Amino acid sequence: MPHTATGHLPGRQVHKFGGSSLADPNCYRRVAGLIEQESDPRALIVVSAAGKTTNRLLQVLELSEAGDDAVVAAIQGLRAYQLALIEGVLDGPARQALSLQLMEDIDTIAGVLKKNYDRHERNGILANGEVWSARLLAALLTERGNQASWLDARRFLSAEEGALARVNEALSREKLREVLAGTGEQRVVVTGFIAADNEGRTLLLGRNGSDYSATLLGALAEAESTAIWSDVAGVYSADPRCVKDAKLLERLSLAEANELARLGAPVLHSRTLQPLLHKYHYILGCRMRWLDQRQFRH
Ligand code: ASP
Ligand code: MG
Repeated sequence: MPHTATGHLPGRQVHKFGGSSLADPNCYRRVAGLIEQESDPRALIVVSAAGKTTNRLLQVLELSEAGDDAVVAAIQGLRAYQLALIEGVLDGPARQALSLQLMEDIDTIAGVLKKNYDRHERNGILANGEVWSARLLAALLTERGNQASWLDARRFLSAEEGALARVNEALSREKLREVLAGTGEQRVVVTGFIAADNEGRTLLLGRNGSDYSATLLGALAEAESTAIWSDVAGVYSADPRCVKDAKLLERLSLAEANELARLGAPVLHSRTLQPLLHKYHYILGCRMRWLDQRQFRH
């Protein structure tokens, strides 16, 4: 297969699955089935933390910072939830390996909480949710007979700290090319939400930032399309919870979609469309099976 001028294999797809699509073992299996059916065998799959994991991690931090003993139970709850996912999803040897890695990560979190951690280490704790879901989904895909691995976005997504982290696209593209070189015919599950500064410290892309991770990755990898799968029907003409005759839009322009995002429509994170704006003219909103997707054709 020929490489493009930038060294990327052309035609890769990006697919993104959010936390509520990965909330329990059945969700993981459904997502794995969808990936097998709907994505090309070299697709890049972006994931968020499973279910409410980021909220749980935040709660752990807040309880710890308040000196509240309830932090112990909160950590136990987090571990029990993640362990139940691993045990409910995997059968083979990866099950034990991932359980052990989870225990180590929980120990690391507890160790960081005991000392005077800085904001980057705090971000590092919040980043665990995406690491856990990427690791688990890649293991499940492998167990089902697919070629798959997972990739920590901090290895290529390079940003500077700011009110909103500013991504260095040129550097990130270069690093992505390096980490994907030689991955060949396999799906790579990538952590959403997280990036790193030039010293490798963790930066976050904002709550619900994984949609933005997905469109960024689509632009960086020169993907053929970016599909954001979600468990809502799509984009409506108005908030369907408040406006009774809100219509599901068949199609909307990128400019309209960006305006909705900018105004804070919860269906689109405010920066999701930025990586597409200078290049693409429209997005499609189309309904599909149990999950609906908003697909951005590049
Ligand atoms: N897990 C992160 C959050 O809950 C990012 C995301 O879900 O997109 O905000
Ligand atoms: Mg989310």
